[in-house]
Amino acid sequence: MANKNIYFFSKTELYPEEYDIEKIGIRGQRAIELAKLLMPIVSGVVINSELANKLNEKDITNDLKEFFKKFEEEIDKKFDDTENPSLFKIVMSPSLEISDYTNVHAVGLTDNTIQGFINNVGEEFAYHEYVRILLSNTINVLIKASKSEKESSKYSALLKEINKANKIASYKNIIQQAKALLPKDFFLDGYFQLNFLLKKYADLLNREEMNDNDTAIIIQPIVYGNYGEDCYSGRFFTRNIISGKTDLHGVFNKNVFDLNYGENELDINQLAKKYHDMLTKIASDIECHFKEIRDVKFIVEKGKLWIIEQSSVLKKSAKAEVNCLLDLLKKEVIDEKFIIKKVTPNHISELLHPVVDPNSAIKFKIIPKGISGSPGAGKGRIYFSSEGLVEANRQAISQGKESDVILCLPATYAEDVKAIEISNGVLSNEGGYSAHASVVARQYGKTSLVNPKIKIDVNKKQFSIGDITVKEGDYITLDVPYYGEPRIILGNVDLMNPDPEGSGLIDLLKIINNYNKEFKVLGNADTPKDTKLVKLFGGEGIGLCRTEHMFFGEDRINIFREMIVSSDINDRKRSLDKIKGFQTKDFYEILKIMHPYPVTIRLLDAPLHEFLPHSVEEMDKFVKYITQNNSKIQRSDIAFKCDSLSEVNPMLGHRGCRIAVTFPEIYEMQINAIFDASYKLQTEGIDVKVDIMIPLIMNPEELKFIKHGKKIEGMYIKGILQIEKEIKEKLNIKKPVEYKIGVMIELPAAALLADEISKYAEFFSFGTNDLTQTTHGISRDDFNVFMPDYSQFDLIDSNPFKILTDPVKELILMALTRGRLTRPDLKVGLCGEQGADPKNIEFLKGIGLNYVSCSSYSIPIAKLKVAQLEVE
Ligand code: PEP
Ligand code: MG
Repeated sequence: MANKNIYFFSKTELYPEEYDIEKIGIRGQRAIELAKLLMPIVSGVVINSELANKLNEKDITNDLKEFFKKFEEEIDKKFDDTENPSLFKIVMSPSLEISDYTNVHAVGLTDNTIQGFINNVGEEFAYHEYVRILLSNTINVLIKASKSEKESSKYSALLKEINKANKIASYKNIIQQAKALLPKDFFLDGYFQLNFLLKKYADLLNREEMNDNDTAIIIQPIVYGNYGEDCYSGRFFTRNIISGKTDLHGVFNKNVFDLNYGENELDINQLAKKYHDMLTKIASDIECHFKEIRDVKFIVEKGKLWIIEQSSVLKKSAKAEVNCLLDLLKKEVIDEKFIIKKVTPNHISELLHPVVDPNSAIKFKIIPKGISGSPGAGKGRIYFSSEGLVEANRQAISQGKESDVILCLPATYAEDVKAIEISNGVLSNEGGYSAHASVVARQYGKTSLVNPKIKIDVNKKQFSIGDITVKEGDYITLDVPYYGEPRIILGNVDLMNPDPEGSGLIDLLKIINNYNKEFKVLGNADTPKDTKLVKLFGGEGIGLCRTEHMFFGEDRINIFREMIVSSDINDRKRSLDKIKGFQTKDFYEILKIMHPYPVTIRLLDAPLHEFLPHSVEEMDKFVKYITQNNSKIQRSDIAFKCDSLSEVNPMLGHRGCRIAVTFPEIYEMQINAIFDASYKLQTEGIDVKVDIMIPLIMNPEELKFIKHGKKIEGMYIKGILQIEKEIKEKLNIKKPVEYKIGVMIELPAAALLADEISKYAEFFSFGTNDLTQTTHGISRDDFNVFMPDYSQFDLIDSNPFKILTDPVKELILMALTRGRLTRPDLKVGLCGEQGADPKNIEFLKGIGLNYVSCSSYSIPIAKLKVAQLEVE
């Protein structure tokens, strides 16, 4: 009857079948797990933790010998044999993962067995193992188990000598020195050596400071990849850790002990077919068991293949991980819920955006920190004006040169959108997550980094920080990971580009969709191009179409500017007629693409001066445009008009629905465009759903005015209802389009008056960019000037423009409750930038909102969170 505290494992046998998992430590568990999987692992014994610390009282040699016979049969070598000795390793198996395991390898090498070993591996390697492995490991154990400084110092001195030795003569010299410190039999008798070490291990476990009752000890014979013909050693990942393809990914070498000993490694896929096929099957079995990509070490000793070790892989691409999960789903090893729990926002972000290849970034200088405006990585030559960037990009393309560019400005405006669109990223130092640069960059899937510490000098065309100065045309890389610190890398770093179709993202989204039932994720989109992205990424409608963004195009912005600076209503109506043409066309396309899902069109919301030229070049273009149609007008008149529109505090100024009170014809044009497009689609057999959204409402009267219109003293302002009615009559239409009128709740006053406002509003959408700004009295554009100091002193938990704050949450809850008191079926969503954050989604879904709407590139992350909440 074998000792009940010693467990045996091999690729074919487990003894006993029942063992106490608490007593075998982590490495014991791993070994037994592999044995159960019928992996070709080298057999071994686990001395459980109960017995391990009593080994200095008991001699278990006879118990062990019973198992060593099994080892012998398996590897054709015999422990302590002079002809063909088997060598063992003794390893500690603690109950927790630690970094410095106490191991002794090459146990069994003695003056009597070394010649047998030399016959197989050569003299150099054999003596190396004797000294640099066996003696070095043994001395380490003795140092750790020493009871006094004096005792350990003599061992330490020898260890120093051992570490210096590198030639056969010096190895032999060390062995002589060691003989003075260790018992004579250690060098003559393998069993004595083994017992000696086991006792020292027990001493170690019993030391007061260790007093380790949970650590087991494993004894296992060693196989060698350098035993002559038909010997290999190698290491591979169970699939390609970059592409996710199922080909093995790794290297091997012929006749070397392990990869540390050889040069000129070969690709694992060049390994002899016999072994390659076995490893491919093993890779698949290991993945199925561990449900992830693993790192595997193997050895072939004289034609026998052994798996030595396998572990999880820390660095792997999201594409590889997701493809692994999708393959496991196909094999029915895991179910969809497993995938939903396992995938993280980071994975999705990596699948959507380029990421920096970590190995390539090492050699460059780095400017750390900053605020993440839009995640991903973007690189190119840096430009300090939109015009300069557009021109440089155009020239590079026309000359067939590399055309990657990065825009760097303190802040961006409407006129910079075209530059953002062609750039690979935006670097700015004003504003933050909800500033123009970040919002537009997210929308176009570009990287945006805001670093308030860098000094941008657009006149000198450079930015600087500390002793670093970056000049126009220099190459930089913006690295903005989804989690983690953003950084500017001063150089051209290799990027790994996204591939939504090939990366598995689309398949992943289909799975996520199955768990997005009640709570919806919609997208923010202003153009037909954006709308297609919203659809591609699984958005179930558009929750915010910022109509002011529709005027950013180069061919449109001057028409819009002309409308703003027009001197009277007739002038303005003439410009509005021009605008209506392309506005109707855009609405038509957006509604058509998004059908059958709803599209929320927000009427104009922007301080008008935001559209006016901000640079001399832009002003030149505008003056040229205006004077083409009206040669009498002077540049100075235009400049005066532009100046008169500027406001001291535009974010709280003439914007949102306030524009509609001063210039009702603007909203009238937009409403006409919406219904013209909707009825055109209806006559084509496409039933659309339009939600018309009024921004920056502060009281119910404003909404009533815009919805129902008003007659005063001979003036008649038409409301939305009347405009729609007239269009219907004009077109002789019987069936009205399905439309709703609602508001953005983005002022505390609106939240407080939600019960009154919901008398007229059929839906609410929280505009939390403005609601945060107005609740806390912090400007979304200037907040970053002092935010770093607030973070430093812990006066703020996180960026309030990214994570909803408690006061804003309270206002949301209050407005929701009050709104639904008046109108129980009130549809309520949120379309501020906070809508994409998983933490916010948990709160919003929990309190009963119907949807969030976020930039197209954020939709998959938001949908993942919704699915995770459903699965939980
Ligand atoms: C908001 O304020 O949250 C919002 C979505 O509107 P905008 O960012 O366009 O002001
Ligand atoms: Mg707003």
